[in-house]
Amino acid sequence: MIALITGASSGIGEATARRLAREPGAQLVLVARREERLRALAGELGGDVLVIAADLTDEAAPARIAAAVQERHGRLDLLVNNAGAGWRGTFGDVGTANLRRTMEINLDAPARLVEALLPLLRASAPSAIVNVASTAGRVARPGSGAYSASKFALIGWSDALHLEEKPHGVHVGLVNPGFVATEGFPQAELVDSFATRWMVSTPEKVAEAILDAGPGGKAERYAPRPYRLAALARVVMPGLTRRVLGSGGGAVLGTSTGADAADRAAR
Ligand code: NDP
Repeated sequence: MIALITGASSGIGEATARRLAREPGAQLVLVARREERLRALAGELGGDVLVIAADLTDEAAPARIAAAVQERHGRLDLLVNNAGAGWRGTFGDVGTANLRRTMEINLDAPARLVEALLPLLRASAPSAIVNVASTAGRVARPGSGAYSASKFALIGWSDALHLEEKPHGVHVGLVNPGFVATEGFPQAELVDSFATRWMVSTPEKVAEAILDAGPGGKAERYAPRPYRLAALARVVMPGLTRRVLGSGGGAVLGTSTGADAADRAAR
């Protein structure tokens, strides 16, 4: 199985690479901006690992990645669109500039990568795409509107893509993580309090969900599974959900959207 994972330099992407490396015959392609991280991981995993350092928001990145995969393997069985980021702030404070940069990495980048790799995925069918969205793509919280907008959009696009690619033998799975402590999303406020620590999951649990949504797998997985109740509550009890999120719940949960490493380094 040839599997490409974006955002493999940390968090959920790194855990997914480690998990996929244990699959028999797995040959990985790791993509992110921090090349040294990818090379260190590739060295640790051993075997046939292709490292591609790329900023996925660069215009030329998808074509360069597709050419490298075509040249090295001539096929692709699994594409995991995991790279993503979020920057906190109310719309009144951070405005459309924040919306634009968030949509660029969380929606445009995976869509452009799928566009470039779809011919190879179809030619390799049965194959799969797994898009890592978020429970925030079902329920929006104060302070993370741009992030939620990008993940709502990613989910809508993935749902359509699932139906469109089925006849071509490309399974499209969706994974919606809940709160997961990673570099980009440390969830510090939740982890620091005994009352909320239980809500925070691990990248390894999400990696298992990504496998579940991979080739021949599920159309959608929440990780951990109980987070689907939050999505359900938003649909069946919208008023109550808004009241909870607009009060103390919103204040706590609204602090959880992180920034990417470059942004954190700049602060
Ligand atoms: P991390 O910040 O730990 O990982 C994000 C990854 O994306 C990094 O490997 C980063 O690599 C890569 N990345 C970011 N921007 C770019 C870019 N422009 N080009 C290429 N790669 C990029 O966060 P997580 O592991 O937590 O996040 C992974 C996914 O899971 C994201 O899509 C996130 O939205 C989603 N998610 C996370 C949740 C959480 O609570 N942690 C909850 C719900 C969803 P590098 O900096 O080297 O480029």
